[in-house]
Amino acid sequence: MTKKVALISAIILSFTTVGCKQSNQKTAVPTADSSAVAQKEIVVENQIKNTAAQILAKPEVPVLCYHRISEGNKGDYTVSPATFSAHIKILADSGYHSVSPAQLYDYLVYNKSLPEKPVMIAFDDSRIEHFEIAAPVMEKVGFKGVFFIMTITYNKKNYMSKDQLAMLAKAGHTIGLHSWDHTMATKYKEAADWEKQVIEPKKKLEGIVGMPVEYWAYPNGVYNHESAMELSKHFKLSFTLYSKRDSIQPLQTVRRIIIPECTAQGMLKSMRRTFGK
Ligand SMILES: [Zn+2]
Repeated sequence: MTKKVALISAIILSFTTVGCKQSNQKTAVPTADSSAVAQKEIVVENQIKNTAAQILAKPEVPVLCYHRISEGNKGDYTVSPATFSAHIKILADSGYHSVSPAQLYDYLVYNKSLPEKPVMIAFDDSRIEHFEIAAPVMEKVGFKGVFFIMTITYNKKNYMSKDQLAMLAKAGHTIGLHSWDHTMATKYKEAADWEKQVIEPKKKLEGIVGMPVEYWAYPNGVYNHESAMELSKHFKLSFTLYSKRDSIQPLQTVRRIIIPECTAQGMLKSMRRTFGK
């Protein structure tokens, strides 16, 4: 243990003498402990994280947010299956590439490069059509999505089952948390509220998908500074809808836009207007 700490300090020291240049290069480190875990920890230690100001200054990656995908006009939170397919098709045809929250995190924090024309495609509220319609449409063009789950819906009618969530994760999509019952994060006051809405459902969801759940979408997109601070202890990134980002916690206030029923051209235009690309 002491040896490892000393080794890491030595690496940081040698790195800082080189200068403060960003580097994602994996330095070959002579080490007595050659286990994979030790190697991984050292590589992480070898990277300098961007400050909040640096993160805020980076070009934003467009993040699209869908809710219901079904026939009939059910308001701004619903698009028809044909519309959804057209949106995905125009993105693929225009040369966009879907990116995962993990890629977005590495871009924001470590300046790692993203594919050309990156876009993230997110789905809130655990609807069954996310599994039955959205995932297959995206998979046809090689896209991956991000599915934010409110865990009160497990195995309920019109919502995804635990098995379906596990299948999405296994297929390479990302599963994130969207609270237990959609109570807004600004209303969590007591430790028991955080336990019920974040800590407990996160643990259960991780058990279902068999991997860490590291991303959060605020119910109704609503946050305040206190909730962003608290969520930073549990998640690498948290997603709002389109509101001002927190100057201290930009990673916990990543912006998305809701995509309503609209033409593919209209979607593209509004995405480019909002995110500038
Ligand atoms: Zn929601």
